[in-house]
Amino acid sequence: MVAYTTKCSVCSLGYAQLLDAAHILEDARGGLAEISNGLAMCKLHHAAYDSNILGVDQDHRIHVREDILQHVDGPMLRHGLQEEHGRKLRIIPKGPKLMPNQEHLAARFEKFLSAG
Ligand SMILES: [Zn+2]
Repeated sequence: MVAYTTKCSVCSLGYAQLLDAAHILEDARGGLAEISNGLAMCKLHHAAYDSNILGVDQDHRIHVREDILQHVDGPMLRHGLQEEHGRKLRIIPKGPKLMPNQEHLAARFEKFLSAG
């Protein structure tokens, strides 16, 4: 978490109480509990990532599931999810051991695409 200067990688929210370390690949799928298999995310983006509402490709671009993009709702949906679609991650740690693993990201993104 320190690698991300305690901010959500998607929205840069900086309140530690609202942040999690999201796994890119679950432990069972070969993902290890190491920094390169994690992304710091706020509670909303962590839950959205885990439920394949939000995906991150290997170039760190954020994708929001198509049906979610079509909904009309309040500010959390609009600003929190829809407006992140197509952006790149705001917070990415520097250094080869800290960067999110590209193969992990790619494998996880495949899962996002097949789930959508
Ligand atoms: Zn966030």
